[in-house]
Amino acid sequence: MDRPDITIVIPALNEEKTIPYFIKETEKVRKSLGMEFEYLFIDDGSTDGTLEMLKKLSKASDTVHYISFSRNFGKEAAIYAGLSHAKGELVAIMDADLQDPPSLLPEMIRSIREDGVDCVGTRRVSRKGEPKIRSFFARCFYRLINRLSKTEVVDGARDYQLMNRKVVEAILSMGEYNRFSKGIFGWVGYKKKWLEYENVERVAGETKWSFWKLFAYAIDGIVAFSTAPLTFASLVGTLFCLVAFIMIIVIVIKTLAFGDPTSGWPSMVCILLLVSGVQLFCIGILGQYLAKTYLETKKRPIYLVAEQELGEETR
Ligand code: UDP
Ligand code: MG
Repeated sequence: MDRPDITIVIPALNEEKTIPYFIKETEKVRKSLGMEFEYLFIDDGSTDGTLEMLKKLSKASDTVHYISFSRNFGKEAAIYAGLSHAKGELVAIMDADLQDPPSLLPEMIRSIREDGVDCVGTRRVSRKGEPKIRSFFARCFYRLINRLSKTEVVDGARDYQLMNRKVVEAILSMGEYNRFSKGIFGWVGYKKKWLEYENVERVAGETKWSFWKLFAYAIDGIVAFSTAPLTFASLVGTLFCLVAFIMIIVIVIKTLAFGDPTSGWPSMVCILLLVSGVQLFCIGILGQYLAKTYLETKKRPIYLVAEQELGEETR
């Protein structure tokens, strides 16, 4: 088999309802372009009929391939697995739920082939159809991480992007276990162009991200791409030492000058509580980094494959 023009990597967790729509819409675009696509689905430990559907599809067509994980490893791991096995000249990452409109593909391909960019990313400029509170926290997160990290994490950026081999290899060279894709994509650099579009709601099924899952993801992102919280902990520590030092001097002078009346017990308890609170908070920050370091040093595999069908080897 020749190298396909484009490999589309599709992480899928319980997407039996959306996959048929996805293929139908993307095929329309492919036909209009007259190109060869390879569809590489990553079944991320689905518990519905996703795997059976993928098996059927890959049997029926030699452009559909799949990798099925031994359990749920998360979208980040699925993206890594997909990029590792993609055969195409260009590689796109797309969600199965059509929230990443295939209609943007022609413009993305044109940008890479004609404008000489290495990667075309997409950004949704609105978040319509999403709960207000979720949008609010998302915005806060982007503001925070961009202040804390030197790596640019673009607000509203999707994982939906088309890239050439150079960028794919660069992303794969980052073999870390804690994979925060939005940061990794920014970190590798290269010439990147952004396309903007209005948010689209998923065609069927449900989102896999609960509020708490997103919250944990946000913490992961900050820990993975910034060490500013550690600096913050040392700064707060220094500040408290300074305050304590001044207070000691004040109290010593006061005691020498005016004697030692035993008042001030409540204020002391307050200070004690505050300081130990800050201490625990800072130890917590340290713990976050230590935990991530611990996991990295174990060098566990990013994903495990239960079964796969990848067609003929071309690489
Ligand atoms: N997904 C995955 N593993 C996960 C969670 C999600 O492979 O643990 C896939 C999911 O099947 C979908 C894409 O990642 O194709 C985006 O997920 P979803 O649409 O639920 O997220 P949202 O668009 O709501 O952010
Ligand atoms: Mg979605």
